[in-house]
Amino acid sequence: MAKGKVTFDYAYCKGCNLCVEYCPVHILELDTYKTNEKGYNIVNVIEPDKCIGCAFCALMCPDSVITVKRVKS
Ligand code: SF4
Ligand code: SF4
Repeated sequence: MAKGKVTFDYAYCKGCNLCVEYCPVHILELDTYKTNEKGYNIVNVIEPDKCIGCAFCALMCPDSVITVKRVKS
């Protein structure tokens, strides 16, 4: 199974939740406590080891906040 590593450019996140909704393995979660400097809630990767590197999150993000790297499993 492919693996991935996801990183966020949090300064540009607007907390729209689209990446959370489209992750097929449900490892993304909107952080209801942490916000970026614009006041938007940011996203946490709650189980990074389960990322399959599909990049759906990055494709769905309207502000190109997410980078997905494929890593060897
Ligand atoms: S790359 Fe795929 S599995 Fe990994 S966080 Fe994004 S949507 Fe989820
Ligand atoms: S889709 Fe992009 S802007 Fe929306 S919550 Fe996810 S990272 Fe932030």
